[in-house]
Amino acid sequence: MATKRDYYEVLGVDRSASEEEIKRAFRKLAFQYHPDRNKEDGAEEKFKEINEAYEVLSDPEKRTTYDRFGQVGEGFGRGFGDFDIFRGFGDIFDSFFGGATTPTRRGGPRQGTDLRYNLTISFEEAVFGCEKEIETWRIENCSLCHGVGCEPGNQPSRCPECNGTGQVRRVQRSSFGRFVNVTTCNRCGGDGRIITKPCPQCQGSGREARARRIVVNIPAGVDDGSQIRLSGEGNAGSWGGGTGNLYVILSVPEHPFFKRRGDDILYDLPINFAQAALGDEVEVPTVDNPILLKIPPGTQTGKLFRLKQKGVPHLRRGGRGDQLVMVHVVTPETLTEEQQRLFQELAKTLVKATMPKEGKGFFQRLRDLFET
Ligand SMILES: [Zn+2]
Ligand SMILES: [Zn+2]
Repeated sequence: MATKRDYYEVLGVDRSASEEEIKRAFRKLAFQYHPDRNKEDGAEEKFKEINEAYEVLSDPEKRTTYDRFGQVGEGFGRGFGDFDIFRGFGDIFDSFFGGATTPTRRGGPRQGTDLRYNLTISFEEAVFGCEKEIETWRIENCSLCHGVGCEPGNQPSRCPECNGTGQVRRVQRSSFGRFVNVTTCNRCGGDGRIITKPCPQCQGSGREARARRIVVNIPAGVDDGSQIRLSGEGNAGSWGGGTGNLYVILSVPEHPFFKRRGDDILYDLPINFAQAALGDEVEVPTVDNPILLKIPPGTQTGKLFRLKQKGVPHLRRGGRGDQLVMVHVVTPETLTEEQQRLFQELAKTLVKATMPKEGKGFFQRLRDLFET
């Protein structure tokens, strides 16, 4: 989705910048990118972008609207009455109006744009699924005029300038001959319709923003970055165009001791020398209940135990992944005098690791393997 750059970013100022700071930043950039002065590729676009950002941020009213909605224009800041109900949802509008810059044929049906909502859920909620109520808002057809934009009882009239086509054709003559120049009608903006008596609720835009609460069903087995599409929960289209979708994008923070690898869950189990040498039964947490794991005598660091069906449920098929328990033997960093004495006693009885004997060393054995 192509998104507009943040106006503050365009001017390179803080969100808390004063009017004076904004003006100064604008002057500097406008000087730098002015098309008369700067002939580099893209300088003109940059200049336009700077102007657009300044137009909004230099106007206190427009700036306030932009800060709240991340967007100004197309009915924003007009006719919504009470803004306060939307306060605090600013973070969900980052890629708002993504598709609005690519309208289909002017005057024809326009598909409503998609919305995006970032939702953070816990590791366990991702594993087992959950139901979450989210607060969001979207553009809907005005409830008073039903999207027409006229005062109730009125209809838009055909634009006299373009005769309802939305386009103006001008025949031009030049030394190469006659040609027809087609431009968008200025009077109706290409819609082919004009509104003489605008609806008092939406000021003729036919749209209004509405805050909503939606319950989202999150299936078991989702992961960080999973997207859930709620069809038809996006912005309303105009002139009979369909409604956009709402995409809920999930983020799942890391768990303090479980790690996911696909649908398997990894768990690192520290044990001590004695447990490794003599064996033990150890309680291991799983996403369900803790279970007793048998550590056989002589277990080495790196030994992997697989707890079948204790992992994450597979998203689109039955069954679950496994939990993989990786053992690692912890060497004590400090010993009491008593422990030191016992280890010394023990050490006398243990065989020391030795260098391989000559003639039958590692490489010799390897050679033997290939020769037989
Ligand atoms: Zn209306
Ligand atoms: Zn027109």
